[in-house]
Amino acid sequence: MKNSWLTDFIRLLFPPCCVVCEDALSIGEECLCLKCLLNMPKTNYHLVADNELEKRFWGKFPIERASAYFHYVKGSDFDKILFELKYHGQKEVGEYMGRYMANDLLVSGFFNEIDIIVPVPLHKKREKERGYNQSEWIASGISKITGIPVNTNSIKRVEANSTQTRKSVWDRWENVQNLFAVVSSSELQGKHILLVDDVLTTGATIVSCASKIMEVRGVRISVLTLAAA
Ligand SMILES: [Zn+2]
Repeated sequence: MKNSWLTDFIRLLFPPCCVVCEDALSIGEECLCLKCLLNMPKTNYHLVADNELEKRFWGKFPIERASAYFHYVKGSDFDKILFELKYHGQKEVGEYMGRYMANDLLVSGFFNEIDIIVPVPLHKKREKERGYNQSEWIASGISKITGIPVNTNSIKRVEANSTQTRKSVWDRWENVQNLFAVVSSSELQGKHILLVDDVLTTGATIVSCASKIMEVRGVRISVLTLAAA
């Protein structure tokens, strides 16, 4: 690279910091320092068939595979990854994390036979407020490692989630029944689709999205999120 000396010089003056511990990153470290990368509370679900995450979808839709990169624990330092990605405009964090995650899962065969990556869409209004869809950035990172294309034009979110406080679990499930619509089924037909989201809590959003996709002929669905509660 022509200007790498300049990049190195700027980096020396203003070193980027680790998203988790906020220590200055060394050359070669991106987004997270090596220490935090090693200390991350990884789920390793991808190494377990019929894992806990897959079981959460049983009876809701036929799931092929499901995994999440790390355990989401409220108040943990690793929450900062999601916070920076979603609320601090740090969309690049999504791509870095997508790459780390894909590198980790690649050898296990998790991505075998997957044809396209579909990031869970945000409602148009929400995406406009944030300026981007964080799941698209995660998907882009996964795509860079796996070479699997990302598809963002087949599904859209038709309703924003209304506030979910003071609602029963059942109401919450009811509330997400029709959040998504398939706008173009041609690129989904007969494909094994990897649904990608930032964090999985109840799983209701994924179920809602997957249920819509299942209406398309011959599709199979796997799920991958950055974090899972
Ligand atoms: Zn760190």
